Formats: sequence, structure tokens, C-alpha cells
Amino acid sequence: MAPPATGSALDTAHAQLAAAVDILGYDDGLHTMLRMPRREMHVAVPLRRDDGTTEVLHGFRVQHNVSLGPGKGGLRYHPRVEIDEVRALAMWMTWKCGVVNLPYGGAKGGVAIDPRGYSIGELERVTRRYTSEIMPMIGPDNDIMAPDMGTDAQTMAWVMDTYSVAKGYTIPAVVTGKPLAVGGSLGRGTATSAGLVHVTAAALADAGVPLEGTTVAIQGFGKVGGHAAEIFAERGAKVVAVSDQYGGVRNDAGLDVPRLMEHVRGTGSVVGFGEADPITNAELLALDVDVLAPAAIEGVLDEHTAGAVRARWVVEGANGPTTEAGDALLAKNDVIVVPDVLANAGGVVVSYFEWVQANQTYWWTEQEIAEKLEHRMHQAYRGVAELARREDLSLRDAAITIGVQKVAEAHQIRGLYP
Ligand code: NAD
Repeated sequence: MAPPATGSALDTAHAQLAAAVDILGYDDGLHTMLRMPRREMHVAVPLRRDDGTTEVLHGFRVQHNVSLGPGKGGLRYHPRVEIDEVRALAMWMTWKCGVVNLPYGGAKGGVAIDPRGYSIGELERVTRRYTSEIMPMIGPDNDIMAPDMGTDAQTMAWVMDTYSVAKGYTIPAVVTGKPLAVGGSLGRGTATSAGLVHVTAAALADAGVPLEGTTVAIQGFGKVGGHAAEIFAERGAKVVAVSDQYGGVRNDAGLDVPRLMEHVRGTGSVVGFGEADPITNAELLALDVDVLAPAAIEGVLDEHTAGAVRARWVVEGANGPTTEAGDALLAKNDVIVVPDVLANAGGVVVSYFEWVQANQTYWWTEQEIAEKLEHRMHQAYRGVAELARREDLSLRDAAITIGVQKVAEAHQIRGLYP
């Protein structure tokens, strides 16, 4: 594999792994095993467009590690999806599942497509063809998909249907994050955001700061950022700024999040919300707030932007929003970073609950799920924070170290075949 581009998601993921390997004192052989994805598929996805023309899209599925159980990870539709990004996202899923103690490895998939430029019918055809192309890799016991950027519960329903039709019977556990009507779990839609708010509250509590009354800025107003804004506001925090790919809005007195949600449902963007002033994404990242939650894309806090961050806590809703250089600048300025593999793990926790429920064909109540999620997120935060304190590590180094150690232990105990 060629070395990844400097500052890219895979470069960041490799640097984080190298730091953990250094802390754990592993040798080069084990380091290489932990860095290399176990399996990957590159597929061509031919699509018949509504106007009768044919387009061929690029798709990928990567299983970074499957030593502790099936691969688990989202499916991303974004125009800039490429193999190294998918490899990075798959690796982060491995460590994340370790941090929240799930019996999974890490996987990820993606198609290079801008879903906003395609009809519902075209997206259904892309999803079904992509699913059938990667069919040899997926299944409820070997690799389980979930929504990510640009995909949603409907996408998962199409994946589940395509897979089930091919096998001849209904197999709900092949995906998570699917609609309730076909075996989804209560609480899955808001799980990532709820988990993010739980760990934010725990990190603030460690510094003796209550969540109520703290100011929050959120980049990204999709499935993660939008619900996080709602939950932060419900829990008494003041959401003063949010943004999406089109721009942002700011109101220092606190945005009316339910009304903003209505505006986004109507227009497709936060831009133009009447009860706020416009703000750019760059300005949002540099706002003087207590908590900054990047919840959009990778690499937004880098050597050019991280030095301007004035928040005391950065809580990573997105995967990989901070590069290695960005991390160093945040650390230098005493900004506490609650890392992605911990902060956004609520989604995979409730995905796991959904998979367990589908396998046992018995569904839990919303309250049971909310309680189990909160318990697991607090436990994970405690584990990470205690290791960080004991060994004088950043929360990121502690979290990745926990994830890496779980996988390495499984490798060592299982032995190397043959
Ligand atoms: P989404 O597609 O629902 O929303 C993405 C949001 O980011 C949108 O508001 C979009 O406009 C905005 N955005 C995109 N490009 C941007 C840019 N250049 N600048 C500013 N904003 C931009 O996606 P999502 O599911 O909310 O995922 C967001 C992030 O969270 C991704 O990194 C994803 O991997 C991560 N994540 C998602 C989940 C989940 O359960 N959905 C779980 C864990 C992590």
C-alpha cells in the first residue's frame, strides 16, 4: 500500500495507531498487523439514470479487523469517497468497538456519489447494485452495515431487502440503523448524538462544570449534529452556533433549536434561519464557546485552523475531524479533546443493541435502550479518563490505546494461523 497523503484521514489514523503502539511497546510485526486492513473490495457500480444514460460509480468495502467478531461500520455516500478514507474510517471503527467493549471488528463502506444530485429511484438502484457487488463480504455474522454520511434508514432497508432476497428469507441483522417497521431499534436515530452529550457532560463534570448553561457550537447539522443540538438544548446547554456545508448561523442568546429544525426540514439548510446572524464554518470553529463539536467531516481542525480554537472542550461528533498537526496545536493551547472513538460511539452501541434484538427477535423499550446506552457511555468515558490520568495521556491516546490493546490481546490469545 502506498503511504497515505500527509494530513489525510488515513495519515491521521496511522499516526494515532503509532502513538498507541509506542505506549504499549508492541513490536513492528504486531504494529503492521494492526495497521493493515484484513480484507477489502473495490467495486464498479453501474447505474441506469432516470434519463436512460449509464454512469459507473466507484464503491468500496473494507474490513479493518475481524478478530473480536463481525466487521461493523457505516456506508458513506459522498463525492470525495476514496479507498484511503474508507480504510481510515474502518480502522477507527475497530478501536471504537474496543473502547465501548463490543464484540465487533471495524469495517466501512462507501460510494463516490453526491446523493443530492440523484433521484430516490436512482439512489435505490445504486444501493441495491452496490449491495449485490459486495455480497460476498457482508452478512449478520461477518460484516454489518449502518448509515453514515449521505445514507439513512431507508438506505439500510434497501440493503437489507437486497441481501434477504438473494438469500431467500428475511435477515434483519445484516444492517443496523434501519426503520422500526423492518426490525430497527428504538433510539437508534438519536443514539450517536445522545452518546455525544453523555460524554460531554462527563468530561465537563470532571472539571466541575455543569452542562446546564454551557455554550456550544456545532459544525454539521445532519444526523449527528442536528440531534446533538436538540439534546444539548433539552439538557439546558446554550447552542449558540451551528453550520452545514452551505454556511452557518449564530445567536449568542441561544438558537431556538426546534424552530431551526423546522427551517432545515423546509429548506435543506440552516442558512437563512431568521432568528440568527450568518457565520462561516471557519468563524464557527474559532468561536469563544465552552464546547465545540465538529460533527461533519474529517480534517477540519488542522495546522491552519486548530490554533484559532477558543473552546475549552472539543468533542468530536465526526470521525477524524482533527489531524495530527491540529491535535498538537489543541494540546499546546490546553484544549481538552474528547476523541471521536469515544464521543461518537453511541451510534455503534445502539447498533449493537439493534443487532442483539434482531438476533433474539425480541425488542426492548426506548427507556431500556436509553439507560443501557447511558451506562455504557459513562463506563467507556471512565475507563478512558482513568487511563489518561494514570499514565498522563491525552484522552485520544488513552482511548486508542484501550481499543488497540483489546484487538492485540485477541490476536495474541488466538495465535497466528497457520
Ligand atoms: P449527515 O450526512 O447526516 O450530515 C452531515 C452534515 O455535515 C450535514 O449537515 C452537511 O451539510 C454537513 N457538511 C458536509 N460537508 C461539510 C463541510 N465541508 N463543512 C461543513 N459542514 C459540512 O452525516 P452524519 O451521519 O451526521 O455524519 C457526520 C459525521 O459523523 C461523519 O464524520 C460520520 O462518519 C460521523 N458519525 C456518524 C454516525 C451516525 O450514526 N450517523 C455515527 C458515528 C460517527
